[in-house]
Amino acid sequence: MTSYTELGLVNTKKLFEKAVSGGYAIPAYNFNNMEQIQAIIQACVETKSPVILQVSSGARKYANQHILKNMAKGVVEYAHELGYDIPIVLHLDHGDSFELCKDCIETGFSSVMIDGSHLPYDENVALTRKVVDFAHSQKDYVTVEGELGVLAGVEDDVSAEHSHYTQPEEVIDFVGKTKVDSLAISIGTSHGRAKFKPEQCTRDANGILIPPPLRFDILEEIEKKIPGFPIVLHGSSSVPIEYVHMIEKYGGKLTDSVGIPEEQLRKAAKSAVCKINIDSDGRLAMTAIVRKILVEKPEEFDPRKILGPARDELKKLYMHKNQNVLGSAGRA
Ligand SMILES: [Zn+2]
Repeated sequence: MTSYTELGLVNTKKLFEKAVSGGYAIPAYNFNNMEQIQAIIQACVETKSPVILQVSSGARKYANQHILKNMAKGVVEYAHELGYDIPIVLHLDHGDSFELCKDCIETGFSSVMIDGSHLPYDENVALTRKVVDFAHSQKDYVTVEGELGVLAGVEDDVSAEHSHYTQPEEVIDFVGKTKVDSLAISIGTSHGRAKFKPEQCTRDANGILIPPPLRFDILEEIEKKIPGFPIVLHGSSSVPIEYVHMIEKYGGKLTDSVGIPEEQLRKAAKSAVCKINIDSDGRLAMTAIVRKILVEKPEEFDPRKILGPARDELKKLYMHKNQNVLGSAGRA
């Protein structure tokens, strides 16, 4: 049994309070390997941004929980060595059972998500409350994210055929009954790199897909019901067209890729949205550079010379997100 404070981590409580009042969002970047976590920490230290390191259940299977825990501990020391102690949260993304959440809390996670959004409402409430009761009763308070509404798309073990928006009428009841610390909502973001079907989009003069706008009207309704309560957006990659083009130029095939425009995320970050999840953009950046190097330098076989430049590109991407999209730069 390890408490997150022993690892040098923090929960989301204070970070979210400051983010809501300051009109910015904390980046929640997924990781499952060393190059990703190095890039995240380098970018967040350099931009002086707090950060949420997210682990999905798929990532946990891929990398092993003991390794992930010690990577989180390692990057706390790494940030210190780089010269700036940013607040670092280790968060379980899309926990699907009480047991998984409990397990993560007991191995040093400072925050967990319990995703009961696919369940009937009352079952979602009961499951979420059970996780909250356990998390909040720990010696060191562990924060919990719940979810209402269903996002479309595919992300690791999470997939949903049909999405539905969060119903503003439900949020007061849900937050009151579950005592969650933050709430993930569905207002039109979506998991994965093909967030909308082409028929849901329009096309610009170059044939590039333009997605339907986020439902800011629903977000406003929710904010009226629970003023100042921390709101989370999942599936908020922008799917930069430059990366998609680079991947396709070097032999990849990513048909009909489309993400959430960054201006819309910037607008959301200024509201009570205080955590924005970004995974696909990092995958695209790494894949683009790896493909480019493999094609342009066919003699290269040192993984460091392939993954190193991919890591540099990731860092650049995350710095850009912190500075220009989330507004979290300078807030650590
Ligand atoms: Zn998600």
